[in-house]
Amino acid sequence: MNILILGSGGREHALAWATAQNPKCDKLFVAPGNAGIAELATCVALDINDGAAVVTFAEKEAIDFVIIGPEAPLAAGVSDTLRTAGILTFGPSAAAAQLEASKAFTKEICDASGAPTAGYAHFTEHGPARAYVQAQGAPIVIKADGLAAGKGVVVAMTLEEALEAVDDMFGGSLGTAGAEVVIEEFMEGEEASFFVLCDGEEALPLGTAQDHKRVGEGDTGPNTGGMGAYSPAPVMTDEIIAKTMEEIVRPTLREMARRGTPYQGVLFVGLMIKDGAPRLVEYNARFGDPECQVLMMRLGAQAFDHIQAAAEGRLNEAKVHWADDHALTVVMAAKGYPAAYEKGTVIRGLEALPQSSSQMVFHAGTARSAETVTAVGGRVLAVTARADTLEEAHRLAYDMTRQIDWPEGFFRSDIGWRALK
Ligand code: ATP
Repeated sequence: MNILILGSGGREHALAWATAQNPKCDKLFVAPGNAGIAELATCVALDINDGAAVVTFAEKEAIDFVIIGPEAPLAAGVSDTLRTAGILTFGPSAAAAQLEASKAFTKEICDASGAPTAGYAHFTEHGPARAYVQAQGAPIVIKADGLAAGKGVVVAMTLEEALEAVDDMFGGSLGTAGAEVVIEEFMEGEEASFFVLCDGEEALPLGTAQDHKRVGEGDTGPNTGGMGAYSPAPVMTDEIIAKTMEEIVRPTLREMARRGTPYQGVLFVGLMIKDGAPRLVEYNARFGDPECQVLMMRLGAQAFDHIQAAAEGRLNEAKVHWADDHALTVVMAAKGYPAAYEKGTVIRGLEALPQSSSQMVFHAGTARSAETVTAVGGRVLAVTARADTLEEAHRLAYDMTRQIDWPEGFFRSDIGWRALK
């Protein structure tokens, strides 16, 4: 098959890495890709949010299958345009991707399907939202309805913080994403991410992970896209996975199908677990980054078979072959991230590192000029290892980070602390 993957992050490098190992893969293209992806695929400059441009490229290169990595092309309806053109595509329609693009929509689906989640109210006007917060008190969670690149959620521990968040969002701080606001009950518990492949009807649990959102050690400082992850998540026992499928995932898929917008792609289920009971925090319509890196490292080439089965509506035949292993990834970011950071700094030492089925440096914001790799983004590398134990995966990943010579970069030294303690 000729395959095109859309995206340029560590997630897409990991997807390309797993796909390239599958014997079904003939030609592999990634748009736009990065310096690491260029080592195993042909990178192409394409506006991935422009469905017509993606179709034109796919037809020219006789692409059989398109895998969409990030949320922006999903929300922009690129999967709809590709399917209309008769091209097999992995990723939900724009209508189904509402599960990520609108928090109010997801809450409505939870109401209709009975999926357990935080109690909430939905506001389109400033005054009533303020009055509601005042009546509820803190802690309370204020969420912009639309996509806000991880900046749309304020977990307010005081009433002042909560009111300020409501004022900011209705004041336009997040543009149209904050024109509508969801206000939620604060949930206590342990968070975990669960990934399920969906083909519109069937659902295949793919794996669990935990990430580290805050920039600083001990989970302090501002939120980021994710500073590291590991899989599996110990809190996701078989019993909790079964409950999540039964009470949250399957009812959601049934409700989406009933509305005429069946969900096909990967469903990223963000959960809060307390006293053995999972509750939904959020859905995303794509793999997490860096969770995808640890999932792909554990699955290897078979990941592509399952992704293809989801796109072709054959998940009833699919079965994941799990090894009893663990993977951990450490994100290296440019100093200053998630605020302003320098671009164009040189990264040395990458060529000497292993590239194997158990050790891999996935690239995110990198570019190559002549023989050097330079950092061109905030999150730059995802240093990933797999082993029989989490302790060993942790040791292997951190050994690799020490061999990377990049004075302008940094990483958290405590990835995995919750599971390792
Ligand atoms: P992401 O960048 O993960 O996609 P997002 O902006 O879509 O984030 P959410 O995942 O809904 O937002 O919330 C971000 C974080 O805020 C969650 O990972 C969780 O830690 C916290 N959070 C969200 N809702 C609640 C809640 N009801 N109770 C407690 N914490 C919450």
